[in-house]
Parts: sequence; C-alpha cells; structure tokens
Amino acid sequence: MKRVLLIGAGHAHARLLAALAAKPLYGARMALVSPEPRQIYSAMLPGVIAGHYRREEAEFDVAELAARASVDYVPARIIGLDAAAKTATLDDGQEVHYDFASLNAGSAIAQSVPGAADHTLAVKPFERLVGELRRIAHVAIAGGGAAGIELAMALRHRGGEVTVYSERSGFPPPLARRVERALRRRGVDFRPGMRVDAVEPGPVVISGTSRQQFDTVLWASGPAPHPWLAMSGLALDERGFVQVNENLCSVSHPHIFAVGDCAGLGEAKSGVNAVRHGGVLEQNMRHLVSGEPFIAYEPDPNALMLLSCGARYAIAWRGGWGAEGRWAWWWKNWIDRRWLRRLRGEKASS
Ligand SMILES: Cc1cc2nc3c(=O)[nH]c(=O)nc-3n(C[C@H](O)[C@H](O)[C@H](O)COP(=O)(O)OP(=O)(O)OC[C@H]3O[C@@H](n4cnc5c(N)ncnc54)[C@H](O)[C@@H]3O)c2cc1C
Repeated sequence: MKRVLLIGAGHAHARLLAALAAKPLYGARMALVSPEPRQIYSAMLPGVIAGHYRREEAEFDVAELAARASVDYVPARIIGLDAAAKTATLDDGQEVHYDFASLNAGSAIAQSVPGAADHTLAVKPFERLVGELRRIAHVAIAGGGAAGIELAMALRHRGGEVTVYSERSGFPPPLARRVERALRRRGVDFRPGMRVDAVEPGPVVISGTSRQQFDTVLWASGPAPHPWLAMSGLALDERGFVQVNENLCSVSHPHIFAVGDCAGLGEAKSGVNAVRHGGVLEQNMRHLVSGEPFIAYEPDPNALMLLSCGARYAIAWRGGWGAEGRWAWWWKNWIDRRWLRRLRGEKASS
C-alpha cells in the first residue's frame, strides 16, 4: 500500500479531504501533518477582525475533516523535508517516511527589513494574529496587497487609526485605483510608493526620511517560501517556491506534489487558485492509485477576486471587470460560508 503524506491543511488539501470524505480512496494510506487542529479560513479573517463573524464561524476542524476522510491526522509542524530520502522531520523530532507527498503548507511572511522580525506582528499564522491583535488603536500595516488593504479596512471599521505603507501595488491599475478610493473613503491613511525601510523599538516605522510611532505594526508584505524548502533538495523557482510541472508535481522529484502558495506557478498566490489546485490534486491522487496518467492543471487568469472593505461592502474583480457594493459582500459571504459548510460535511446548497 502506498504511503502518502499530506503536509499542511491548506485550501487544496482541505478540498481533497472533503472529496475523500464523500468518496473514499482505497489503496493508499494517508496521513496529514498540520499544526492547527482548528484553522481560521483566510478569506473570512478580515470579517472576524471587523466583527462580522465570531472566530468559530470562520474556522474549520482539521482533525474532524481528516477523520471523515479516513486520513491519520498528526498535529505537528514540518521542520525538514528530504525529497530524495522520502522523509519529513516534525517539530517533535519524529521522522516520517512516505512514498508520495503533497505540500500545501502555504507560505511564510518575509520580515527581512531590519527590525521587522522583532518589532512587528506578521499576519500569518492567522491563529496567532487573532490572539495577539487586541490593541487596535493606532496601527501601521506594511504591505498594500489584498491582505494588507482588507485588514486595514477591517481595523478601521473597528475604530482603529490605520496607516498603510505600500511600496507598489500588485493590482492591475483600474483595480488599484478602486482600492485606493475605498481606502481613502474609509479614512485609512494610505501611503502609496512608501516602503518601510526599518522598524525600531516603539514600534517606530522608518520610511525614507519619515519616522512614526504606532501601537502595533502588522507585517503583510506578501508570500515568502517556508525556510525548510531551501534544504529539501527540491528544484525551486527564483523566489524559492517549488517548481512544478503541469500535473502539479515537482519537476525534480515527481513523487512530490506542491499546491497552493508552495507551488511556483506564474499566477497569483491566492486561496481561490489553491482551491482549484485541490481539484487537480484529488484526481491525481486517485490516478496515482489506479495507475492512470495524471491530469494537467489549467490556470485561470481571470479568477474572481472579492475584496472586503471593512463594513459589509466589497469590491469584485474578474479579468478586467470591476464593480463594488453591499451585494458583493453578501456574495462573498455566501461563497465563503458555502466553502466552510463543505469542509464541515454539511449540506452545501443553502
Ligand atoms: C489576511 C489575508 C486575507 C486573505 N484573503 C484572501 C481571500 O479573500 N481570497 C483569496 O483567494 N486569498 C486570500 N488570501 C491569500 C490566501 O490566504 C493564501 O494565498 C492562501 O491561504 C494560500 O493557501 P494555501 O492552500 O497555499 O495554504 P494555507 O491556506 O495558507 O494553509 C497552509 C497550511 O499549512 C499549515 N502549515 C504551515 N506551516 C506548516 C509546516 N511547517 N508543517 C505543516 N503544516 C504547516 C498551516 O497550518 C495551514 O494548515 C488572504 C491572505 C491573507 C494574509
């Protein structure tokens, strides 16, 4: 029997587990290693911070989902992966052997700016962020991507004074303009073109010649690879994510899949894309057991993006088309709640 190790309970593995719970896969012994038995769903995190959801409403039970899928759940963190030896080292010192593995451990936050690691709060892991984000009086956010701007408007909605430093926008220009209008309308102090050069105790943010003190500095500078990938022996792209082929297998070690943020694909790193990877992964896991050829992943350059704007209001964007309103928030709310119902094994139709 093939031993399959799933690393991380990211979006793709969550989709795989929900599918296995509905339609079991015989012929493989699967284990999932992931640190949080209950996990906050990223798309609803700004809603938790804005006060629209209780934390429990935005969480799913990883252990319970794995049990329904007949997958052994190990609540631990991978600290080392040896692709050639087919072993993974856990943070409790245990070594796990596998025949096949799948990496869906998300990404880290690069806090490489001087002082950032010591004086700022990274937006990941979410479980720690929610636990520590108690004082929201005067907050700076480094990073003007989807995570940074959604959190900014959520904190503003809760009455915080919020400043966003954004070196450059990763959004297409019409969407960037829409986002900037939304931030300004809500009274977020948005500083485009300003990068955070250093953070000093206080915490004090240094940006060019400006120095300003805040109660808290959140670090939302975008995805960076987990450090243990660099030592894994896997072929990595120029940013340090796993290079994969069209089947989402490592180009150097085809017995290892990489999905979600872990995969070095030329597309945005988003939960939406990670969920789509999960559909391909599910088929390929079944084909792994049946011996059929793997199917290929087809990126969707026009994937839907829904950005929440603090209150029950959102911006919708899809392939050059943009709109916004309360309806967009309710649409997002419906999609997000439907996803969690699916992971909880509840009826997905209502
Ligand atoms: C505030 C915020 C809001 C966002 N909102 C959206 C949104 O609305 N829509 C959208 O599409 N994207 C959104 N994103 C981006 C999105 O969160 C990521 O792109 C997405 O989570 C990546 O999914 P993933 O499946 O790769 O991994 P994740 O969903 O990040 O899951 C990673 C998993 O791996 C586990 N893990 C981590 N380290 C280890 C380890 N060493 N060993 C084992 N397990 C490990 C984690 O506990 C977790 O279970 C948001 C990001 C942020 C920060």
